Amino acid sequence: MLPDHRPSRSHSLVKATPIKVSFEFFPPKTAEMEVGLWDAVTRLEPLEPDFVSVTYGAGGSTRERTHATVARIVSDTTMKPAAHLTCVGATKAEIDEVVAGYWSAGVRHIVALRGDPQGGVGTAYTPHPGGYATSADLVAGIRRAGDFEVSVSAYPEAHPESPNIDVDLDVLAAKVDAGATRAITQFFFDNALYLRYIERVRARGITIPIIPGIVPVQNFKQTANFAARTGASVPQWLADRFEGLDDDPATRRLIAAAVAAEQVLDLVDYGVRDFHFYTMNKADLVYAICHLLGLRPRLDQAAA
Ligand code: FAD
Repeated sequence: MLPDHRPSRSHSLVKATPIKVSFEFFPPKTAEMEVGLWDAVTRLEPLEPDFVSVTYGAGGSTRERTHATVARIVSDTTMKPAAHLTCVGATKAEIDEVVAGYWSAGVRHIVALRGDPQGGVGTAYTPHPGGYATSADLVAGIRRAGDFEVSVSAYPEAHPESPNIDVDLDVLAAKVDAGATRAITQFFFDNALYLRYIERVRARGITIPIIPGIVPVQNFKQTANFAARTGASVPQWLADRFEGLDDDPATRRLIAAAVAAEQVLDLVDYGVRDFHFYTMNKADLVYAICHLLGLRPRLDQAAA
């Protein structure tokens, strides 16, 4: 008997229901990285993302790079930028100045984070004297400063500092009470973790969208190291898929595309319509996954 070749549910759902995507970039450190970033931005722009976000680091020069990248997105593209901002190493007045600077530059969306401890992940977090003590305080400060849309973080596998999931949900609820309207998750590979987390979030009475953060595996070793620092688990099946491909970038890319496609289409089957992609400033894999999700470039931009 022939196998059943009916199209999957995700196939028909993708066609029937619009999908929204957003892309995350990091500010480039060198002129060469800047070229790479803008190649990626230019390639992804015609897909008309809901917004594009730019990460933020502690310290003056990284802050300036974030600001410069966000300002260029405002001036050179049609996309809506979201600027990440943390509480780390700055007084309230300094952070308020950054927020005011974003408002003047035309930015209306901030991803508000507490940030990592200055001693590094695994050390205790100490708020800056005179700074915003928590992410919820920062959200409230941003909302006071202007009519910003504020997104925050969420952790399907719990934050590495989390004593238990209830504390995580309390922290998320406090951010929503302070005015956050969307959460973006830490990346994950096992969709069951995300789906179980959403059940807990809803049971806690939190109703804002919790957008899954998807990381295409551009480089398995790097991703696994990054995951170890963020508390995201790397399933053995994922390691197995990349096994033996260290010196075979072409096959690695095909596997990465297949893994990410499987993950997002499975989420579509569960009714997820919004996706946030950690692009690592590279467009190709993300572009391919978006294509699978049914997104097509706006022609005037694609031709430009
Ligand atoms: P919060 O959401 O405030 O807290 C995270 C967890 O810490 C809580 O869930 C809880 O488990 C614990 N916790 C916090 N407060 C308390 C408390 N009072 N008592 C007990 N437990 C508590 N980092 C950057 O430096 N720059 C970025 O641009 C950046 N962008 C990010 C974007 C996303 C979508 C995500 C998911 C993370 C990002 N990060 C970024 C990483 C983030 O800064 C770190 O994970 C940081 O350690 C926590 O910041 P947060 O806002 O997530 O913290």
